Amino acid sequence: MFSKILIANRGEIACRIIRTARRLGVRTVAVYSDADIGAMHVALADEAIHIGAAAAGESYLSKERIIVAAGRANAEAIHPGYGFLSENADFAEAVEKAGLVFIGPSPGSIRAMGLKDAAKALMERAGVPVVPGYHGERQEPGFLIEQAGSICFPVLIKARAGGGGKGMRRVDRPDDFPAALEAAKREAKSAFGDDAVLIEKYLIQPRHIEIQVFGDSQGNVVHLFERDCSLQRRHQKVIEEAPAPGMTQEMRSAMGEAAVRAARAIDYRGAGTVEFIADVSNGLSPDHFFFMEMNTRLQVEHPVTEAIAGVDLVEWQLRIAGGEPLPKTQAELAINGWAFEARIYAEDPSRGFLPATGTLSHLRFPDGDVRIDAGVREGDSITPHYDPLIAKLTVHAPDRQAALARLTRALEQTQVAGATTNLDFLIRLSRQPDFFAGRPDTGLIDREAEALTSAQQPDDAALAIAAIVEAGGFARLDGSDPWHALGAWQLWGEMSRPVTLHFGSGQANCRVIAKGGQLFSVAFDDRTIPVRLMADGNGARRVEIDGRQSSVDMFEASHGMTLFLDGRTHHFHRLDPLDGGEEATAGGDRLIAPMPGLVKIVRVREGEAVAKGQALIIMEAMKMELTLTAMRDGVVESLHVGEGDQTSESAVLLLLRPEDTA
Ligand code: ADP
Ligand code: ADP
Ligand code: MG
Repeated sequence: MFSKILIANRGEIACRIIRTARRLGVRTVAVYSDADIGAMHVALADEAIHIGAAAAGESYLSKERIIVAAGRANAEAIHPGYGFLSENADFAEAVEKAGLVFIGPSPGSIRAMGLKDAAKALMERAGVPVVPGYHGERQEPGFLIEQAGSICFPVLIKARAGGGGKGMRRVDRPDDFPAALEAAKREAKSAFGDDAVLIEKYLIQPRHIEIQVFGDSQGNVVHLFERDCSLQRRHQKVIEEAPAPGMTQEMRSAMGEAAVRAARAIDYRGAGTVEFIADVSNGLSPDHFFFMEMNTRLQVEHPVTEAIAGVDLVEWQLRIAGGEPLPKTQAELAINGWAFEARIYAEDPSRGFLPATGTLSHLRFPDGDVRIDAGVREGDSITPHYDPLIAKLTVHAPDRQAALARLTRALEQTQVAGATTNLDFLIRLSRQPDFFAGRPDTGLIDREAEALTSAQQPDDAALAIAAIVEAGGFARLDGSDPWHALGAWQLWGEMSRPVTLHFGSGQANCRVIAKGGQLFSVAFDDRTIPVRLMADGNGARRVEIDGRQSSVDMFEASHGMTLFLDGRTHHFHRLDPLDGGEEATAGGDRLIAPMPGLVKIVRVREGEAVAKGQALIIMEAMKMELTLTAMRDGVVESLHVGEGDQTSESAVLLLLRPEDTA
C-alpha cells in the first residue's frame, strides 16, 4: 500500500477519497486553487498544495502543476477522482513518466475508450452490442444528414469526445438537423476542443443501465452488478439506484458478461463503468441493450454499488494501483438490499436547472442511517468556477420500497439556506408515481417537468409563520431566537401590523395580530390563520396551525429568510429599498446575466426588432451553455457586451425599448 497519495480533484470526491485513504493509513495531499484556499477538501487532507488560479484550466486541469505538486509533497501516486483530468490519457502518461503511479487504468485503456466513435468500433469487434448509427470519420453536414435519414429520425448527435451530457442534441426532423449539428459542434469544440460528432438512433423512453467493472494487473476482471441511472435532466444523472428495478438474472448476466468483455478488450485495470442504454419498449430483455460508452474512472454514483455490494471501491482502487489482486472473485460478490443516491445541486429547477451560486449560511444533513458525501460545509460558498454539487445523499435498505421511503425522508430532513437548490425537485421526484413503481426512464423528468419543477407558492402555514417573524422584526434577529424576539415585540404593546411577503415572483399582503401569549392570527384578504408558537422542550421550534403541529426552522440568508417546514424549503426575500431596479427588470427592459460567465454569441444588433422568447445572447457559465431570450417584444436599444466578453453576475447585457418608440 502507498504511504502518501495526492488527490488531483476537489469537492466531495476529494473528501471521499481522503476518508478511505485515512482509514488505510495512507497520508493525503490535497491541491487547491485560489478559490479553494479554505475549502473542505483542503482542510481534511494531511497536506495541501496551492496550484493556481480559480479557473480550472489554470489549476485542476493543469497536468504540469499537479505533477510538480506531487513531486514537492513526495507523493507516490495520484488519484484523479472524476471529471477534470480523470480520463485524460496524456495526464496518466505524464504521471507515469514522472515516476508516480496513476490510480486508474493505463493510458492505452483510457485512450481506447476516450472517443465514443473509436470505442464503439472497438466494442463492435469485441462482440458487444452498440447503438445503431454512424460512427465513422466523415463530418460533412450533407453526409451526416444523409446518415441520419438512413438511421431514421429521431436521431441523437453526440460529440465523440463528449462527457457530462455536453455536445449532445436530439433531432426529430431533418429541417432541424443543420442548426442542431452546429450547436452540438460548437459546444463540443469549447468543452472538449474537438468538434467531431457521431450520429445515433435516438431510443424513445429507454433506460440507462450501467455496470461497474474492476480489473487488476494480474488480468482478472469482475463486475459489481448494475446501477440504473435513468432519472436524468439534460442527459445528466439525478437519482441513481442499484440494483435496477425489474432486472432478471438472465439480463444481469448478459450485461455483466458484455461489460467484462468490454473491459478485457482493453486490458482494463482499476475501476470503470460500462454504460448501456436499454430499449424497454417490450420490458427489459437481454437482446435489447446497447453499449453507449465506457467511463474509465470512478463514477459519481459509485456509493450505491458500495452499499449493495458491501465494498469500498476507493480501497479497491488503491490496492489494485499498488499491485494487489482484486479483493474478491466474481463468485464472492453478491447483492444485498437496495440503494439510492440523490445529487443535491445548487441550481434552480424552475428555471431550466440553471446553476446557482451562494454562500451556504445554513446546512444540515439528516443523521441516522444515511450516507452523506459532501464537498462543502456550512459557511462555504458555491462559486461559478466549478460544478455546483453540494452533496450526495445515499440510503440503503433491505428492499426498494424501504430504501425509497428512506430517501424521501432524508431529503426532507436536509436543510440548505443561502443558495437555491434542487431539494424540492428531488423530493417530488422521489414520489413520482412511475419512478415509485419502479418504472424509471431517461425521458421521465422532461415529460413530468411541469409537476416536478414548477415553482411552488408557499402554503398558508409557511406564509403565516413568515409573516409573524417578519412583523416581529426579523432584521434584528441576528441568529437569536425569533420566538423570543416576538415576545419582546408584544411587550411594546403593538397589537397588529401589516406585512408584505415576497417570494419567487409573487407576493402576499396580510396583517399579523398578536392575541397574547404565543398566539397570533394572520389575516389575508380572504382567510385568517390562527398560529400558536411552541417549543418542543429540546430547544426546537414548533408551530400549531389549525390543530396541527409541525417543526419549523428558519434562518436569515442572503437578502431574506429561509424557512423549513414539513420537509419543504421556502425563501422569502426582502426588497432592498435602495434598489428600485428590481421591478424595472421584471418589467423586461434589461437583459441581465444570471451568473458570471462568458458571452459566446450575440445574435442581435442594436436597432433590431425582436420577439418575446427570441434567442438574444448565448452565454457559457458553469460549464453550460445558457440561451438568454427576449423578455418581451421590442427593439434592441443598446448592446453592452460583445462576443468573448466576460461578464459578472447581474450585469446588464442589453437594453430593449418598446417597438412603438422606434
Ligand atoms: P458520471 O457519469 O459519473 O456522472 P459525468 O461524465 O457526468 O460522470 O461527469 C462526472 C462529473 O464530473 C460531473 O459532476 C461533471 O459535472 C463533472 N465534470 C465533467 N467534466 C468536468 C470538467 N472538465 N471539470 C470539472 N468537472 C467536470
Ligand atoms: P456522456 O458522455 O455525456 O455521459 P452518454 O453517451 O453516456 O454521454 O449519454 C448520456 C445520456 O444521454 C444517456 O444516459 C441517455 O440518457 C442519453 N442517451 C445517450 N444515447 C442515447 C440514445 N441513442 N438514445 C436515447 N438517449 C440516449
Ligand atoms: Mg455517459
